[in-house]
Amino acid sequence: MLTYEEALQEVLTRVPEPRAIRVPLRKSLGRVLAHPVVADHDLPPFKKSFVDGYAVRSQDVVTAPVELEVIGTVAAGSQSQPEVKAGQAVHIMTGAAVPPGADAVQMIEKTRSMGAEKVELLEPVVKGANVAAKGNEVRQGDTVLARGRVLGAAETGVLATFGQGEVEVYAAPTVAVIPTGDEIVQVEKKPAFGQIRNSNAHSLWAQCHQLGLDATVFPVTPDDPERTQEAVSQGFQYDLLLLSGGVSMGEYDYVHQALTKEGVNIFLHKAAIKPGKPIVVGRKGDHLIFGLPGNPVSAFVTFELFVRPAVRRWMGFQAHGLQRVWGELVTQTRQKPGRKFFKQARTFWAGDKFRVEPIETKGSADLVAFSRANSLIIMEADVECLQAGQRVEVVLLDNDFHEGNEYKTDSRR
Ligand code: AMP
Ligand code: MG
Repeated sequence: MLTYEEALQEVLTRVPEPRAIRVPLRKSLGRVLAHPVVADHDLPPFKKSFVDGYAVRSQDVVTAPVELEVIGTVAAGSQSQPEVKAGQAVHIMTGAAVPPGADAVQMIEKTRSMGAEKVELLEPVVKGANVAAKGNEVRQGDTVLARGRVLGAAETGVLATFGQGEVEVYAAPTVAVIPTGDEIVQVEKKPAFGQIRNSNAHSLWAQCHQLGLDATVFPVTPDDPERTQEAVSQGFQYDLLLLSGGVSMGEYDYVHQALTKEGVNIFLHKAAIKPGKPIVVGRKGDHLIFGLPGNPVSAFVTFELFVRPAVRRWMGFQAHGLQRVWGELVTQTRQKPGRKFFKQARTFWAGDKFRVEPIETKGSADLVAFSRANSLIIMEADVECLQAGQRVEVVLLDNDFHEGNEYKTDSRR
């Protein structure tokens, strides 16, 4: 059986090539840039004043105080450019173009106005003071954002600066979430004996949403070979198919068979991980298909471990998005060795280090316990016990924790 790393590698190498699309500037937030952005002008585009004050020839203000003749005013955006000659100054505002002749600006606080036509400079200025030279930040033709840049808020401002009202980014795959199982009923229903509400479709939708994907949730497919095949066939209207349930060795588990009949090349059947040993992954054309385990925690965790990295690659990200940190284990935790165990935990910043608290759970169906987790302790396959106080590596899950919010411990459910 493949290890997690091997299995993930199998999946990642089969991810279809990212596809570039053009989107309006504000739709590009959080996406990966598909082309380099080149400055269409110098920045600043003109010699600019940093402050409110007087534009002068520095050689006139080598010593102070000194009186100069005020020959005009330039505001930000002003087109007028009165030339500054010996003994002259121009009243200037922040962001305005420094007029010809002037090579420095003295800030208003270091001057005294003497009527409309005269100003006294109270301190000397040196050449270039409070003036940004044209192009001193960026030259026209410079690459300001490389292809592959993840577009955050600052990049949005950069794109705007250089006139990118539309941006080419890598597309997010379209997604079909296909829940399976005779026993699965919709959220609005009170489950009858033997029935279970459909939680997977909704948590998978939410996980997709957190990645910036808009998933379409299919109605529950009953455990029937033809119906399962039909659902898969419908699913090919989307790039990414996420099936839940029906991938175990049970008599009514038809996902594997349905995928094969629909021409999917299945390249992964299982991985040596806990939770989530049965996981089916295949590709057909430019579609990627995941058969995730039915148990809610397993479905959730396998999404994080396999689907998230695959989707991120598909969207052009370099990093696969599973952030790992080391922390100090608060209480001992054990496992039956054999498979790499991703043990649910709460990780919180304790001022000088992360502290990692394993969560008591009743297993891979116990979504309520899992919902308190914000991380997964990585327990190698051959490790039977991790001691309290030991340093452990954890995978952080997508939640407020990433925002730097301190995670408050609260053992109540
Ligand atoms: P399966 O993988 O189909 O054998 O399902 C394993 C377990 O997960 C069973 O107990 C199912 O009832 C449960 N399960 C399957 N699909 C869902 C779902 N969509 N929502 C909640 N539980 C599910
Ligand atoms: Mg089932």
